[in-house]
Amino acid sequence: MSDQHTDRNAVQRFETLAIHAGQEPDAATGAVVPPIHQVSTFKQDGVGGLRGGYEYSRSANPTRTALEENLAALEGGRRGLAFASGLAAEDCLLRTLLTPGDHVVIPNDAYGGTFRLFAKVAERWGVQWSVADSSDPAAVRAALRPRTKAVWVETPSNPLLGITDIAAVADVARTAGARLVVDNTFASPYLQQPLALGADVVVHSTTKYMGGHSDVVGGALITADTALGEELAFHQNAMGAIAGPFDSWLVMRGIKTLAVRMDRHCANAARIAELLAAHPKVTRVYYPGLDSHPGHETAAKQMRDFGGMVSFQVAGGEEAAVEVCNRAKLFTLGESLGGVESLIEHPGRMTHASAAGSALEVPSDLVRLSVGIEAIDDLVEDLTRALG
Ligand SMILES: *Cc1c(COP(=O)(O)O)cnc(C)c1O
Repeated sequence: MSDQHTDRNAVQRFETLAIHAGQEPDAATGAVVPPIHQVSTFKQDGVGGLRGGYEYSRSANPTRTALEENLAALEGGRRGLAFASGLAAEDCLLRTLLTPGDHVVIPNDAYGGTFRLFAKVAERWGVQWSVADSSDPAAVRAALRPRTKAVWVETPSNPLLGITDIAAVADVARTAGARLVVDNTFASPYLQQPLALGADVVVHSTTKYMGGHSDVVGGALITADTALGEELAFHQNAMGAIAGPFDSWLVMRGIKTLAVRMDRHCANAARIAELLAAHPKVTRVYYPGLDSHPGHETAAKQMRDFGGMVSFQVAGGEEAAVEVCNRAKLFTLGESLGGVESLIEHPGRMTHASAAGSALEVPSDLVRLSVGIEAIDDLVEDLTRALG
């Protein structure tokens, strides 16, 4: 980033950065949007004479650079890195931070794929992990070991919308000399800024709210620690699970409207949560915007608004929950989240099937909604019909 760019970022607000950070009009043509540099290699002006530092697109590609600078600006970090998926980003982070024998504290409510990465992959390479309720900083402290190198947090969490006090857990991690990793996928940087609260690294599945249109799979890491950023960039290149130019462009395109989309996601989700809380077929609602949510005050303190995800338990058990999923029409039955269209799913049989039988198993009568930005009355009608 040029100094001029950095200075400009310092005074600009989120919505403006989302559209402009890392995205100067193209120097060669004036194109207002960064072009898709669909290319593997770059002509050198004499051996080693790189133009703008570009050599080979695994190491760096201008479209990916534009996204990476944008991500860093939005999270208030110094280095952003874009990957082929959220899990590719997580894998790069684990292999950068950890060596065999090191230990990680993971939350008791995490994305199923994150849990599988620790339990079924990292463990085979000698990484130790233990599970703690991260909504309780004392429980995280109790789970620390001499070789704890990272504390992993997801807030709001998937699928139970648990809230972790990022600043409090950052203190716990710091005193133990461990890095705090925050998966900020559910909130997005518009709603929550973990680096400012003391996190060392932010993880994203850009597949979700950042992309926002259910048309791309991607991931990201952002840090304010320049040295750690260099190490991550080294591993990104050495391991190679980068975001391609077209995928980078799609994520950037999505990010431009992140703020306005999130405002509508939050407003619609709040209405849906109220509807569910008053519904006789619903036994429990998980939404941090409800006063009854145990993490409501912490969420209000560290988030701009409460997000677009709502989970609930259905009277009548697993079969009744599956029936609600099957009866919904406008809420499309499908995995994933964060797109403009509303989705419904049964975590126990779908996204979180890999956590069955573990400390991260989810209730079998749970339904998860990704509330989209359609007309709220249409969403209310569909859900009311599906609940019967
Ligand atoms: C989807 C998701 C991931 C994994 O990202 P992929 O892009 O699917 O690899 C990680 N964390 C959370 C919270 C997610 O929702």
